[in-house]
Amino acid sequence: MDNNNKNKDPNHNRQGWGIILATTLLVTFIVMGLYSMMQGSGPEEISYDKFLSLIDEGKVQEVSLNSDRIYITLTDEARREELEETGRTGNPGNVLSQLQDQMQGQMQSGGGTEEESERSPDYYTGYVNDYTLTDKLEKAGVKFGSKPGDTMAQTLLELFLTVILPIGLMALMLVWLMRKMTKGGGVMGIGKSNAKMYMEKETGVTFQDVAGEDEAKESLQEVVDFLHNPGKYSGIGAKLPKGALLVGPPGTGKTLLAKAVAGEAKVPFFSLSGSAFVEMYVGVGASRVRDLFKQAQQQAPCIVFIDEIDAIGKTRDSSLGGNDEREQTLNQLLAEMDGFDTNKGLLILAATNRPEILDPALLRPGRFDRRIIVDKPDLKGRVEILKVHAKDVRMDESVDLEAIALATSGAVGSDLANMINEAAINAVKHGRQVVSQKDLFEAVEVVLVGKEKKDRIMSKEERRIVSYHEVGHALVTALQKNTEPVQKITIVPRTMGALGYVMQTPEEEKFLNTKKELEAMIVVALGGRAAEELVFDTVTTGAANDIEQATKIARAMITQYGMSDRFGLMGLESIQNRYLDGRAVLNCGDATAGEIDVEVMKMLKAAYEEAKKLLAENREALDKIAAFLIEKETITGKEFMKIFREVKGIPEPSETEEGAPAEREGRITMKSEPAEESQITAGGE
Ligand code: ADP
Repeated sequence: MDNNNKNKDPNHNRQGWGIILATTLLVTFIVMGLYSMMQGSGPEEISYDKFLSLIDEGKVQEVSLNSDRIYITLTDEARREELEETGRTGNPGNVLSQLQDQMQGQMQSGGGTEEESERSPDYYTGYVNDYTLTDKLEKAGVKFGSKPGDTMAQTLLELFLTVILPIGLMALMLVWLMRKMTKGGGVMGIGKSNAKMYMEKETGVTFQDVAGEDEAKESLQEVVDFLHNPGKYSGIGAKLPKGALLVGPPGTGKTLLAKAVAGEAKVPFFSLSGSAFVEMYVGVGASRVRDLFKQAQQQAPCIVFIDEIDAIGKTRDSSLGGNDEREQTLNQLLAEMDGFDTNKGLLILAATNRPEILDPALLRPGRFDRRIIVDKPDLKGRVEILKVHAKDVRMDESVDLEAIALATSGAVGSDLANMINEAAINAVKHGRQVVSQKDLFEAVEVVLVGKEKKDRIMSKEERRIVSYHEVGHALVTALQKNTEPVQKITIVPRTMGALGYVMQTPEEEKFLNTKKELEAMIVVALGGRAAEELVFDTVTTGAANDIEQATKIARAMITQYGMSDRFGLMGLESIQNRYLDGRAVLNCGDATAGEIDVEVMKMLKAAYEEAKKLLAENREALDKIAAFLIEKETITGKEFMKIFREVKGIPEPSETEEGAPAEREGRITMKSEPAEESQITAGGE
């Protein structure tokens, strides 16, 4: 359920301002209109002169005086005359005048007659210090008196309409808008936790939905128990954990695990991303943290999950230009974590794939003191993950999830879930009701090298070069004992750039590689380029990926695995961002770095010579297999080995050997290698 999310919509803010503007305009118009009506319809100003002449002419029926004005009411006859003369439209004749009359009437109640109160003055003039006025009025038989109430009422009305009413309306409007916005954040509510926070009352996820990751589940099981029976632990004096940090590469199921903890403990689950705290304005993040903890404590027992906590939890640095906002947010988070009472059953889970950059203060006891590693799944883990996701997909009996797991070394949970889904989509596309093993393999290939690029038309010569290149890799593989068997060779281009590729499969998952195996891998990687040079006496751009891969292995052998005679066991590189790109950083001086490069070059050169030698010695096999591949476009490991054995005069293996994993048809793989990445030997563009 999305709790506050709706308030974050910028359109919503814009709408708010729109309403304020429209109301202001409307109120202004109304006030201006009323005011002008009032102005236009009230008594008209005349000069004192004219007033005197009106008295002389006997046209004045009544006069009322106040401190600064004299209001004049004409006789009926005179009024009619005046009207004809000036063309003024009836006065009193409009709403406002009636209103004024009524008010005047009320103010005078008890004073004048009803008749008097019905008439409103026609003219007014400024008060002049004229002592003779009363005499003149008496002489002319004009009624007169002072009417302080008249002006009071009028002034009050004017004041009300021009000042109090608009200000009051505006204030009301503003209060209403502010309340609406601050409820969940918005223009005014920047301080509120209007970050994307999701709340689920029941996640419905349990540990059964998370496959593999047994160690992580075990640690979290304890946490669930804390939430279930806080009394059991606090009774004995044990402090409940406040937070746990889930550490691992993306897609390994960290979010899923956090949800499972909430699901198992049957408590609500709040989740938001670390980056959602940090805004442009200083202080916003900190107030969001405060708000988050306030909300969570109200809902306790509950789980709060902060994804990508490294966005706020980065080590605070003292260098100039540090990020003030982030530091304040982090400080607030630390303070809140110290402050809350665990007995209520509030648990903060956070996820990161860069634990090394987190501020140490965040990891000390009493904060995220439990670190739970959620690493890439091993073979068994992958089989289990595939099973979990295959549960809801109809599969035929040909499906062997173990074979898929073996072929997907290095893949994480989200990759595997994606593969199963791709396979199901593929089956539907072909009008089938169930998913077959072939669909699954195709899905694996799509995830690895992209979809087939059917519209890419290669020239005949290019096809020949790509074929020799790929067969070069495969043949070197088959000729070296320490490399994994070839499973499939193809020259159908793929969307991710490969013009062709060779797939190899391990017979079992390996966690260690020997020096010999690594050397053999380098020779295989360079086998494609060696075949090109041997056959065409020229080289192409297609080996770029191979060269990169070979260099990476050679470099790691020298700098990380202590496998070179020259440098021995010296650790020359260390790995950063282990859970992300695993980039290596040199720890040695410039001179040594230069020497490392020389050593790498030497190693690559030797491997290339070895590949060329192997291929030259087996030129017949190379030509025959390449010709077959050009014709067929895709060949299996079995077909490859058949020609290879024929040429080499090796007898066909017996039935039992036939079934060995290396020979099973259709098996493809990403091979796990020291750099921890799955790869295939592919000829790029
Ligand atoms: P992370 O938070 O580590 O990046 P997620 O928990 O978001 O990864 O995982 C994404 C999806 O991958 C999950 O929703 C789930 O479908 C699948 N997945 C990942 N790991 C597992 C696992 N161990 N078991 C089952 N499914 C998994």
